[in-house]
Amino acid sequence: MRTQVAIIGAGPAGLLLGQLLHKAGVDNVILERKYRDYVLSRIRAGVLEQGTVDLLTKAGVGARLCAEGLSHEGFALGFANRRLRIDLKGLTGGKIVTVYGQTEVTRDLMDARAAVGLTTIYEADDVTLHDFDGVNPRVSWRKDGASRELACDFIAGCDGFHGVSRTSIPAGAIEMFERVYPFGWLGVLADVPPCSHELIYAGHDRGFALCSMRSAIRSRYYIQCPLDANPATWSDQMFWDELRRRLDPEAASHVVTGPSIEKSIAPLRSFVAEPLRFGKLFLAGDAAHIVPPTGAKGLNLAASDVHYLSEALIEHYGEKSDAGIDGYSAKALDRIWKSERFSWAMTSMLHRFDRQNSFERRMQEAEFLYLEGSIAARTGLAENYVGLPF
Ligand SMILES: Cc1cc2nc3c(=O)[nH]c(=O)nc-3n(C[C@H](O)[C@H](O)[C@H](O)COP(=O)(O)OP(=O)(O)OC[C@H]3O[C@@H](n4cnc5c(N)ncnc54)[C@H](O)[C@@H]3O)c2cc1C
Repeated sequence: MRTQVAIIGAGPAGLLLGQLLHKAGVDNVILERKYRDYVLSRIRAGVLEQGTVDLLTKAGVGARLCAEGLSHEGFALGFANRRLRIDLKGLTGGKIVTVYGQTEVTRDLMDARAAVGLTTIYEADDVTLHDFDGVNPRVSWRKDGASRELACDFIAGCDGFHGVSRTSIPAGAIEMFERVYPFGWLGVLADVPPCSHELIYAGHDRGFALCSMRSAIRSRYYIQCPLDANPATWSDQMFWDELRRRLDPEAASHVVTGPSIEKSIAPLRSFVAEPLRFGKLFLAGDAAHIVPPTGAKGLNLAASDVHYLSEALIEHYGEKSDAGIDGYSAKALDRIWKSERFSWAMTSMLHRFDRQNSFERRMQEAEFLYLEGSIAARTGLAENYVGLPF
């Protein structure tokens, strides 16, 4: 087999890259370790920046997103039983975010790919990258007991944090920066109306809580929990009780409870690998960086990486210029580090940290009070939340 771009991973980064390349006439094949429905069963991000919505529309998968996505003109920050609305639209000259689940984004991209007959190889075991620092890059894998190989011009490593692409790069050629947070988020998905029509990010003495949603009848809630917490030991009732304790009285009174349809724990991590290019291998999305979900940047960063990378590859084939390819890493990293800063700052302000002393707690409170009293501070927050331009 031969293709122009071999894409590792059928998450949002790999699928979106494949779609944009296809639209520009660049041939690509996606190799995915899991089966299709497993990828679709992962409940993850839900807030899309306008730049991500625009890119999905450009890729030809904007119809259902525009029809079913919920436009959000603001969100709320909670602190010590108080609530502060961040007026995204008013503070950013009209920009908003759209609530539309990552699962739906993935489904739309998979359907679009299938509709035009593009090749996605699911359940590809032992994916291995060869000669990506030479002239004949190749990818090999096993499927149904047989060994296969794909020759290509470039490899796009879109295989997430635990994928094979980043770890294939020799240790001396890549630098990694990391902060692992000493807590996780326990998340519950339930078919109940949200307690508020906008998201609430709440800092509380008992720990952080997030009220989010997927639709007018499906809610996604999170509470900060110890890293070793076991979702099986958290009954639905325990979860709802703890969530209410961490919200201001009005929000708590509007929480509608019901049976969970998914309950899981996500660890929180900040991570960046650089550079994003090694010979003919490029990293994009979670393969290259992780942000804690406070601030909803993970999926959106994957989209901006893919924007830069698709433009670079299209330029390579269309204009016979490697300027975009050569500049990809620096361009993407500039935006990645700014989003890392924002996600880290939101996480630092709103969570309880072990061994946090009273001074540090007061600093978190002062941060909230500053936002409450300053339009300039709220404007900076809003500008980052709706997404820096790309
Ligand atoms: C539990 C959880 C909750 C999250 N919640 C939020 C949130 O609320 N808001 C937010 O903005 N972000 C959130 N994120 C982050 C967001 O989901 C990611 O940033 C986004 O999925 C990145 O997309 P990606 O395509 O780069 O990586 P992924 O979605 O991880 O996709 C990578 C794909 O590569 C495949 N793969 C891995 N290894 C191999 C291999 N060796 N060979 C072939 N294929 C391979 C994987 O199976 C996967 O399908 C969350 C992440 C997690 C894990």
